[in-house]
Parts: sequence; C-alpha cells; structure tokens
Amino acid sequence: MHIGLCLLVALLLLAGPVKAGDDLQKRIDFAAELQINEPGSNLNPVIDQLLSDIEQATPGQQVSIRLLAARNLGLQGRIVEGLEFIDQILAAEPEPGQRLTTYRLSANLAMNLGDYERAFADLMEAVALIPETGSPFEETNLYGLASYFHGLAGESFSAISYAQRSLESAQETDNPRLACLAYGRLTAAFEADDRLIEAEQSGRQGLSYCEQTDDPVTTGWIHALLASVLISLGELDQAEAMIAQATANHSDVYHQGQLNSQRLLARLMIERSQFEPALEKLDNLISAYEKLALWERLAEVHWLAARAAASLGQTRLAYDHTLKHIDARERFLSNERALRLAYLEVEFASKQREQELMLLREQARVESLRRETIEQQALFRKFAYGFGLFLLLILLLLLLHAVRRRRHFQHLSRRDGLSGLLNHTSFFEAVEQTMGKAQRDGQPLTLLMADMDHFKQINDRHGHLKGDAVLRQTAAGLANTFGKQSLIGRIGGEEFAVCLSGVTIRQAAELAEKLREDMGTTTSTIGRPVTMSFGIAEMAAGENLDQLRKRADDALYQAKRNGRDRVELAPARQGE
Ligand code: GH3
Ligand code: MG
Ligand code: MG
Repeated sequence: MHIGLCLLVALLLLAGPVKAGDDLQKRIDFAAELQINEPGSNLNPVIDQLLSDIEQATPGQQVSIRLLAARNLGLQGRIVEGLEFIDQILAAEPEPGQRLTTYRLSANLAMNLGDYERAFADLMEAVALIPETGSPFEETNLYGLASYFHGLAGESFSAISYAQRSLESAQETDNPRLACLAYGRLTAAFEADDRLIEAEQSGRQGLSYCEQTDDPVTTGWIHALLASVLISLGELDQAEAMIAQATANHSDVYHQGQLNSQRLLARLMIERSQFEPALEKLDNLISAYEKLALWERLAEVHWLAARAAASLGQTRLAYDHTLKHIDARERFLSNERALRLAYLEVEFASKQREQELMLLREQARVESLRRETIEQQALFRKFAYGFGLFLLLILLLLLLHAVRRRRHFQHLSRRDGLSGLLNHTSFFEAVEQTMGKAQRDGQPLTLLMADMDHFKQINDRHGHLKGDAVLRQTAAGLANTFGKQSLIGRIGGEEFAVCLSGVTIRQAAELAEKLREDMGTTTSTIGRPVTMSFGIAEMAAGENLDQLRKRADDALYQAKRNGRDRVELAPARQGE
C-alpha cells in the first residue's frame, strides 16, 4: 500500500507542473482522497506543488488547496500554521459549502490547540451553515463533531441529541460508514450519561454498519466502545471478545487504538481479579499516556492501578497511584473547565441569537397579522359599502313600488269602478277647483247633469248585469262626446255629470243634443236605444258650486217633467 502510494505521489509530482485546468483539479481530488484514506501519508510535496500553482486555480480550487494544506499541517501537529490557512480561506468569503468545511476543520484544529472558545464558535458557525448546504454527508460529520465536543465539555445531554441528529442525517445517505460513525458517537454519548443498555444497543447497531465497510480503524473504534460498555455491564466474556476484535482491527496502524485496547484489557483483568498482570499492563500505559499528555486516560489508568494495588495489599503503591490519579484528573478537569466555559459562552451567544431570531420572527408575524387585519378591514368596508348600496337600491325600488301603488290606489279611489269615470266626490272636488280657476281667468264654465230615463225598467226587464253594461256604454258615449278636456263623473246610480271649462251653455247644449241624438239612433246592449235627460247651467259670476249644481239639477228635473230624452237649459242667473 505504501509503495503504491509513494509511486502515485511521484507520478503526481511529475505530472504536476505540466498544465493547469483539469489537471489541477485531478491533483486536488487525488490529494484529498489520500488525505482521507491514508491519513499517515506524507502529502507535503504534493501540497507544496499545489500551493505554488495556486495562481492558476479558480477561487473554488484555491479554497480546496488551502483546505488541504491546513488539514495537512493539522495532522502534523502544526496547528497554528494550519489555522493561518483557515483565516486566508475565510477572508476570501467562499461559497457556503466550502465555508462549512472550513469552519469544521477550524473547529477541529482549535480543539486540538486547546482554543476551546474558537473551537465551539467555529463549530456553531458550521452548524448554522447546514440549512444552506443541505448535504447529509456534511450534516452527519458536523453533528457527530458537535456531539463529540459537547461530550468533552461534559454536556452529555447535548452530546446525545447531536449524536441522534448525526444519525438521522447518516440514515439519509446510504453510506454504512457514516451510519457506523454516528452510532459510535451515540454509544459514547450514552455511556458518558450512564445509559448503558442504550449504549450497548447503539454500539451493536453501529457495528453491523461498520462491518459493511472495510475501514478497520472505525470498526475497531466501535469494538472498543462496545467492550467498554460491556465491562461496565459485567458482560466480561463478551467484552473480551470485543477487545480482541478491536486489537485485530487496529493492528499496528493506529497507535491510540492499540493503547485503548490495552487499557480495556487492564480493566477486564481487574474485574476478573487478575491484579498482577493488570498492574504490569497499566505501568506501560501510564508511560505512554504521559508522553501523549492524555490526562483523562492517564487519570483513568492511575485509578485502575490504585485499585489493583490496593487489592494486592500494596497500600503504599495504591496511595501513590491515587495521588497521581488526582493530579492527572486535576489537569484533565482544568482542561474540561476551560471546555465548559467555552461551551457555555458559545451556547449563550447562540441562545441569544436564537432569541433574536425568535423576536424577529415574532415581529414578522405581528406585522403580517396587522397587514392581514387591515386587508380584512378594507374588504369588510368594501363589502359594507356594497351591501349598503344594495340596500339603498332595494329601498329605492320599494319606494318606487310604493309610490306607484299609492298612485294606483289614489287613481282607483278617485274613479268609479264600473264606468272608469270620476266618482261623485272627486268629480265635485275637481269642479270646484276648475270653477275657481275659470272665475279668476274670466272663462265661461258649464255644468251638465244627465240621468238615464226609466232605468229601473231596464234593470227589471233585462237584469242588473245588462243594466251595468248599458251604464258602461253610456259612460263611453259621454267621454266620446265631451272629450278629454272636460271633467266627467258618475255621480249616482244612473246619474252622470260633465263640467266644461271655457265652454258656454250654447256650445254645451249642442254637444249634449248631439249625444242625445246619437243615443237615439244607437242600438244598445239591450237590443234597443236607451235615452237620457240633460240639464245644463252656465256658471254665473260669483256663483258657488252648490248654486250652480242646483240650477243644473233643476234644469234636469225640468227635462224629466217635459217628457224625458231632452236637453233643458237653466235660465241665466242674475249676477250681483
Ligand atoms: P226616471 O226616468 O224617472 O229617472 O226613472 P228611473 O227608473 O230611471 O228612476 P229611479 O230613480 O226610480 O230608478 C233608478 C234605478 O237605477 C234604480 C236602480 O235599480 C237603478 N240603478 C241604480 N244604480 C244602478 C247600477 O249601478 N246598476 C244597475 N243595473 N242599476 C242601477
Ligand atoms: Mg235617477
Ligand atoms: Mg233615471
């Protein structure tokens, strides 16, 4: 494997300076692949070459190259230099996907440097970019990292919930390695919270995914996690099998993994009361962890050694290990305190940001509600206006209808139902008005009274209905003769009256005579002509209605007495 790798690197170096463009991209991709899959390989020459060609690269490629460089420096422990590249990348404001990757790497580097505040801040920057990038792959990694960081800070609740989120994102991909990693994080988070049953379950699920990959480091990591949980659960035989698998997987490639297996074995031995070999193993581990300055691990192995020594009755040694345990624990805890502080500060800032966001969201909601209310009010107003207009229209129509009906009824009340002529009351009212006007204007006016002759006999002989028909026929004859300018009324059963304004008694007599003659020659509805008697009087100056009426009546009476079917004129009245 390593020979092949060197060969490839050599090939790349040869091909490197030849041409830019596609070729450059290939070299970037290749270096990235090596960095992930062969973390131990020496990429310095490849990356130096890429950095010298950086002027020919697109902005996106420049970010990729600097990321490679930063990661490479980080892997070599040159973290401060690595962070300088990170700062260069961020200053150029790359697109969200690359920004997220940059912040994630930055968080990792800062964590390794012990700059916990920056680590958490960058992690949160990266988490905030998740919605923009939307890659389940990135999400899995990032939430996994967040879980790990929170675990380190002693925030086991957050560690569990981030691990669960990481798992959800992993399940969106079909990548078994991601699922394995997410389950591993969850296992560690559960174990730290003493939820051993759940820890075992997620560890076993993670293992089933890990076994689908050919990644020995991650698989060994899960084996070790599970072994630890099983020891705590008292499942010692199963734990032993797991440790063996972890050791096999880690073989010689992963030093810390090996130490981890040894530590687990020591724990197992103590559980089995094999104190002496346990102490021997622990001594080796103590010197290794001291070299690596892994204080938590060191504290743990001193504690295990103290337990083993005490069990062997070596109180002096047990005391010694206990003191060293306390010392290492102190160092670890001061680290953890710094971590917690960083965590709390970032958490505070992000909570504040969340609150600000909530406030903004609430303001937006209130604003939209207000706008909605205004719109509704406007709509309601429009509706109200429309409805009001509609009501007004209806009222107008009703009013119009009522006026028409009133006029109709008025008309009906003024008219005689049988003949359609003015009835008694309205006829004389109209005559009185016309007389007033004629007197003011100095115009002549005549009043004519007419009464059917022997009408009783007509009724008796032909029936009342025939009598009615004769009355209607006679009314039509009156209207024909005297025209529309005159007032014509039916003032009694078979009595009619006509008022002619601007007409003298002579003219009126002529008209009446003509009608009388017409009637005499017209066969009526009873099969023979009917006759009528007329009495006419002309209004004298200063004469009132009663006086005029009396004179016309008298003339009519005269006509009856003189043998009916005739026109009689009232003698002119002496003026005052
Ligand atoms: P005269 O020539 O003297 O006027 O004799 P007359 O029979 O016409 O007079 P009288 O006053 O004795 O009779 C009037 C009759 O008119 C009595 C009544 O039956 C009849 N009459 C009154 N109003 C109506 C009506 O509306 N319809 C009908 N068919 N007959 C009516
Ligand atoms: Mg009569
Ligand atoms: Mg009569």
